[in-house]
Amino acid sequence: MPVSERSLPKYRMPQSSSDPRAVYALIHDELALDGNSAQNLATFCTTWAEPEVRTLMDECLDKNMIDKDEYPQTAAIESRCVHILADLWHSPARQTATGCSTTGSSEACMLAGLALKWRWRQRRRAAGQPADRPNLVCGPVQVCWEKFARYFDVELRQVPLEPDATGMRPHQLRGYVDENTIGVVAILGVTYTCDYEPVAGFAAELDAIEAETGVSVPLHVDAASGGFIAPFLQPGLRWDFRIERVASINASGHKYGMAPLGVGWVVWRSAELLPEELIFKVDYLGGDMPTFALNFSRPGGEVIAQYFTLLRLGHEGYRKVYTACTKTARALAAEIAAAGPFTLLYDGHGGLPAVSWTLTGPSPGFTLYDLTDQLRRRGWQVPAYPLPPERHKTVVQRVLIRHGIGYDKIMLLADDIRTAVTRLSHGTAGTDEQPGFHH
Ligand SMILES: *Cc1c(COP(=O)(O)O)cnc(C)c1O
Repeated sequence: MPVSERSLPKYRMPQSSSDPRAVYALIHDELALDGNSAQNLATFCTTWAEPEVRTLMDECLDKNMIDKDEYPQTAAIESRCVHILADLWHSPARQTATGCSTTGSSEACMLAGLALKWRWRQRRRAAGQPADRPNLVCGPVQVCWEKFARYFDVELRQVPLEPDATGMRPHQLRGYVDENTIGVVAILGVTYTCDYEPVAGFAAELDAIEAETGVSVPLHVDAASGGFIAPFLQPGLRWDFRIERVASINASGHKYGMAPLGVGWVVWRSAELLPEELIFKVDYLGGDMPTFALNFSRPGGEVIAQYFTLLRLGHEGYRKVYTACTKTARALAAEIAAAGPFTLLYDGHGGLPAVSWTLTGPSPGFTLYDLTDQLRRRGWQVPAYPLPPERHKTVVQRVLIRHGIGYDKIMLLADDIRTAVTRLSHGTAGTDEQPGFHH
């Protein structure tokens, strides 16, 4: 460790060069102050990687995803991943699914949203009707859809949560969908609660609306998390291209896809659903490799690492990992229910390997924010946050179980939760006193 007697440059580039090892050591040391990702139970993102992933990432440092001419194998591997995902999500064989990698689900959602907007406009213009007031209907979506709506001038019709609901319900669609609706977004793995929205129920309701009004509204499934869970844990659940009305699906490779940070995916049911004007054809590849992206240059390593995880784990591996994660989540749910005045919102059954809960009762004497603080003292990051505006008074807490967050670790968390609850309820949380421990 080099001895530093002055502060590191923060606002101006230094005039002179420095020894790389010294600079590395100083930056490495500063980064140690970041949270420990292995105890970050707030994130959906990959925090554990096999050594081979690190090697591939290193080998791909110079691969630019956009440069399909220079790196045709990287491009071919991206295309293989798209096909694998299209197959995993039951894209009908007779249709040629099309899709691409992105930096994450946010970019994937923007692209899917743009395709919906363009297709709606084409339909309206073809019918000689005005196409200047597009809207998008959704439930408690992730912020990327709010961004999409604002950046691309679409009215976001966010359906309020019914009391006790963890997502939008099919019968609510009727009041929000009209001829200017470019699409409905269904979420497979609601950010707030980790539950799935009933995609098949939405599709049936939209079928009924079409039968009555003639207005046909496509569905997009934001499967940022669920896209890599449902195929392995809930294979019988119909949420994907098995439903005719599902036009496109996105997922985050860097969440339950188990790839390192920086990759997402979007797949369309068939090539016609992606308007030509949005695609920039790169024909120097020999085929017609469509490029549809918000970014230009982008690292290729994450896509390669995604291909590695798909091959390395296979169906068997994903199923094993997430079966174990789900068991751990359910065990934590049982611990939470027994640990104090908590009501489970989602107990790890039917959706993501996760748990979410809220405080029960009129006045337990502490808030979930207090509990978050207490757990943070032990290094755990367990966020507390309010539900969407109409249920803003309900504060929830959530834990995500991923690869690398094992049963024993979660039982240690459960111990710490029990200790924190005892301290908070006895008003000894600010002191060093150990409840139940007599000197
Ligand atoms: C995380 C998430 C997103 C955004 O995904 P990124 O990959 O972080 O850009 C969008 N929708 C849902 C439901 C999510 O959980």
